Amino acid sequence: MELSQKAMGISASPTLAIDSKYKEMKAEGIDVIGFGCGEPDFDTPQNIKDAAIKAIVDGQTKYTPASGTLALKKAICAKLLRDNGLTYTPDCIVVSNGAKHALLNAFNAVINPGDEVIVPAPYWVSYTEMIKMADGTPVIIQTKEEDKFKITAKELEDAITPKTKAIVLNSPSNPTGMVYSKEELKEIADVIVKHDLYVIADEIYEKLIYGDYKHYSIASFNEEIKKRTIIINGVSKSYAMTGWRIGFSAATPKITKVMANMQSHAASNPSSVSQVAALEAYQGDQSAVEEMRKKFEQRREFMVNRINSIKGVSCTMPDGAFYVMMNIKELIGKEIQGKVIKNSEDFCSLLLEKSLVALVPGSGFGAEGYVRWSYATSTENIKKGLDRLEQFLS
Ligand code: PMP
Ligand code: GLU
Repeated sequence: MELSQKAMGISASPTLAIDSKYKEMKAEGIDVIGFGCGEPDFDTPQNIKDAAIKAIVDGQTKYTPASGTLALKKAICAKLLRDNGLTYTPDCIVVSNGAKHALLNAFNAVINPGDEVIVPAPYWVSYTEMIKMADGTPVIIQTKEEDKFKITAKELEDAITPKTKAIVLNSPSNPTGMVYSKEELKEIADVIVKHDLYVIADEIYEKLIYGDYKHYSIASFNEEIKKRTIIINGVSKSYAMTGWRIGFSAATPKITKVMANMQSHAASNPSSVSQVAALEAYQGDQSAVEEMRKKFEQRREFMVNRINSIKGVSCTMPDGAFYVMMNIKELIGKEIQGKVIKNSEDFCSLLLEKSLVALVPGSGFGAEGYVRWSYATSTENIKKGLDRLEQFLS
């Protein structure tokens, strides 16, 4: 019996696959260090956990409205005004099972079969697969490391065809850590409005920005771009809440309604208890967010300097998120520990096998010749991992 062609065309998430492999090895007692999965190593702040415990004790353990509780939607609207200067009402918000689910809702809401969706590469692994799940065609724009992996408005305009329906914009970016400036975003927004496209703006790393960079939401420039934007965000990265599975979308009431309708059949509501936790995250004390950001910033400096001191590899300084894309192009075609490295997958497999360091190959991000490190792990692990890399290469 044949399975669905569409389903068989979807590949497994390489970030989650590496993480499972790392966890398996760890459970077997192997001294492996994981830099694969991008997940804050910090614990969820105590005030958030306390709110969730209270919700359980109080019996908030039943179905909620499918698109989320009114209280949480109001708190999200207040967050969007406070942090992004954007005015939304609760009928513009769908609370989902993580930002991932919100993204899938968004692609399903705008794509008709055969529509093209522009995705700048390197991209986060799930965009292309989700676009295919929604019967769309991902169209990749390749960026360059010397341009800090950013697209220009001109490159975007050149990639637009009569079939283009939307573009995915992820700033700060997973996997490159690049952050678009206000001017760069504004130029991109103008092209989107001119060609009447949608933009799916994944802002999940909004709070993790370093140096002088600042986060701007593309929706904030004018009403024309705002009505074409579906903002995706959530609590996973900013509040160290990956396991709670709460994300959200903000868009026009019309787009929001179709997303909410689909979610009501696919998933009912996101966890009632997690919604109370997310409410506390957005409304409660925000100091933990800045404390975690500072720690990430220190680790970033350390990792980048160390990588650039190791012969054969290099990287540019990322301005946000918690990833470093390490350039391994010099090593391709060379023999390391008796094996010829043909690509980023070979490199990662050999590094894992010989030196017990788990990284994600660039191939999954549309970035062959690179491998991704996550610095969402302790400085001690980072030091140990980079020592192992240096030894591996020497
Ligand atoms: N977008 C990006 C760019 C991400 O890195 C992630 C992390 N997996 C997500 C969305 C999904 O986040 P969540 O855990 O809230 O589903
Ligand atoms: N965003 C993280 C990563 O890229 C989590 C894994 C995932 O959801 O893909 O590693």
